[in-house]
Amino acid sequence: MRRYIILTLATILFGIGCDTQQNMTPSTVLPPPPPPLPPLVDKLDKPENIILLIGDGMGLTQITAGMYTQGNRTELERIKCIGLQKTYADNDVVTDSAASATAFACGVKTYNTAIGMDRDTLPVKSILKFAQDNNMSTGLIATSTIVHATPACFFSNNKYRRNYEEIAADMVGSDVDFFVGGGKKYFERRTIDDRNLIDELKKDGYVISDFAQKDIVDITPALDKKFGYLTADTDPIPVSGGRDYLIPASELGLEYLDAKSADNGFFIMIEGSQIDWGGHSNLLDYVVSEFMEYDKVIGMALDFADKDGKTLVVVTADHETGGLAIQPGSTMDSLEAAFTTTKHSGTMVPVFAYGPGAENFQGIYENTEIFEKLKNLLPSETK
Ligand code: MG
Ligand code: ZN
Repeated sequence: MRRYIILTLATILFGIGCDTQQNMTPSTVLPPPPPPLPPLVDKLDKPENIILLIGDGMGLTQITAGMYTQGNRTELERIKCIGLQKTYADNDVVTDSAASATAFACGVKTYNTAIGMDRDTLPVKSILKFAQDNNMSTGLIATSTIVHATPACFFSNNKYRRNYEEIAADMVGSDVDFFVGGGKKYFERRTIDDRNLIDELKKDGYVISDFAQKDIVDITPALDKKFGYLTADTDPIPVSGGRDYLIPASELGLEYLDAKSADNGFFIMIEGSQIDWGGHSNLLDYVVSEFMEYDKVIGMALDFADKDGKTLVVVTADHETGGLAIQPGSTMDSLEAAFTTTKHSGTMVPVFAYGPGAENFQGIYENTEIFEKLKNLLPSETK
C-alpha cells in the first residue's frame, strides 16, 4: 500500500517540475487539495539510482543528424527537462575529454589532459566515489577502452590521460562493482611493471572475463562478486564494423546493479565514446551510426526509469567534436555535412534530465555544476 502511494506520488511529481505551463489551465471550481504527505515528498526529491549517459562529442548537431537519419525521431524527445552546459577548460576555451570529464565527474575546472586532477595536479574525488560513500553500487561502461579519459575520471587520478597503464592500476582497489570496456593489454601486458592486474582484480573479489573468452550475452555475474569485462585488447571497433556489446552490457549493468544495490541504489556512467571519433574523422556516417546505437541505450535507461520510478537519468556530452554543421542542400534522407575542424569545438552542449531531481538540470551552467547537482541528490547531502 505504502509502495503504491509512493509510486502514485512519483507520477504526480513527474507531471509538475518541467511541465508547469501546460498544467496551469485556470478553473473556476477547484477540487479540494489532497491531504499533505510531507515526509514522502521529502524522500521523493531525491532519486535512489543515477544513470549518467555521456555521448562523447555529442553536440546538438550530432543529435540532429542522428535524429533526422532515423526518421526524425530520437529517444531524447521523451525528456522534458533540458539545459545547456559550458564546456570550456581551465586553460583552454576548447576542452578535451579529460578536463571535461574531470569537471562533470569531480566538480573542478582543470587543464586539458588531466584525469581527476585539479589545476595544481592535486587529486579530486569523483561522484562515483561519493556514491560509494553512500553505499551505492557503481558501474562504468564505455565503447572506448575503460582507461580512456571519460571513464577514467570516475575511478582514477592521473596528471596525464595517456598514462593508460597507471590509470588501469587505479581500477584495482577502486571497488567499482561493474565495468565494461576495451584495453585488456593495459591490465595484463604492461610495459611499466610486471603486474597482472587481472589476477589482482580477481583477488580483489572480481569475476573478470573478456572478448576472447566469452560473449557478454552469455554471462550472468554473481551478485556477491564484482564484475569486469574487457571488450578489446586496445580500442573497441566502431559499431559499423560489428561492435555489438554496448546494448547487452548496458542491459546487464542495469540489471546487475539494481539487484546488487537493493535499497541503497546505484550510480552508473555509460559512455557512447565513439561519436567523438566520428567527429575527429570528419565522417558523418561514423557519427550517425554511433549516435543511433547510443540512442537505444538512452531509450533503455528511460524505460528502466519509467518502470523503477526512483531513477534519475542525465544525458549529456563532454563537448562537441568536429564543428559539425548540416548544410543547405540537405534532405532528411541525405544530409550534407560540413566539419570546421578535426578537433573539438567550444560550443555549449545540451543536458537532458529525467526522473526524480531532473528539474535541477534546467538552465545554463558550468560543466562542473553537473557534479554539484548530482552530489546534492545523493542521500547523505542535506541541501
Ligand atoms: Mg570519451
Ligand atoms: Zn575527442
